Amino acid sequence: MISIHNIKAIAFDLDGTIYYGNQAIDGAAETIEYLKNKGIKVFYFTNNSTKTREQIYSKLKGMGLDLSLDTVYTSAYATAFYCKESQLDSVYCIGSDGLISELNGHGISTNNEKVKAVIVGLDFNINYDKIATALLHLQNGCKLINCNQDKNYPVEGGRLMPGCGAMTAAISGAYDKDIDFIVGKPNTYMIELLANKHGYGNKDILVVGDSLDSDIEMANRFGCKSILVTKDNSIKQFRNCF
Ligand SMILES: [Mg+2]
Repeated sequence: MISIHNIKAIAFDLDGTIYYGNQAIDGAAETIEYLKNKGIKVFYFTNNSTKTREQIYSKLKGMGLDLSLDTVYTSAYATAFYCKESQLDSVYCIGSDGLISELNGHGISTNNEKVKAVIVGLDFNINYDKIATALLHLQNGCKLINCNQDKNYPVEGGRLMPGCGAMTAAISGAYDKDIDFIVGKPNTYMIELLANKHGYGNKDILVVGDSLDSDIEMANRFGCKSILVTKDNSIKQFRNCF
């Protein structure tokens, strides 16, 4: 049994915890409902840098989860928020339409004029020109910020596909510069953003995820409780903890 005394909110990882690809994990919607009925506020957070929070919200809705938009945290959303609060109002973005949409929605220009930072997310169309343009901006003194450092991600059949970290490695490999800021897990920026926006302290939040290196490491750095879910001990069994 896990004591939920003083736990006010649970932050669920998505991939491998709530769903696999487009398939909800058995028992996810029922578990979320059960926790909400216990008075626990439920949040969702993902390193996914290709989708807006609206897109993730719609996906979860489509899986039968009852949620509100402001409970969804993606690394694309958090990156846009970081740029806004850091006054990086014009950026060069290597990333998906979802990331660009989040940046523009936060008032960050992606028109490549007076660029202050190079933003790197997962980009399915990365090419030599984009890396060369990023390099030029770094030469001119721009900051290098990436959505997360995930080297790869698994798809059907266990094949690994290059992740956001691979995009950044292509750029940093071309120029001797450290990354100035990493937004996603296991860094604590996203969970701090959640805590600050909703008025929680670290002792109020429980993190649930399927990655030791990402979810649980982030929870440890933040100083909150965490639970690791696995295929044999999934979100369905997790309900029995309470
Ligand atoms: Mg996961």
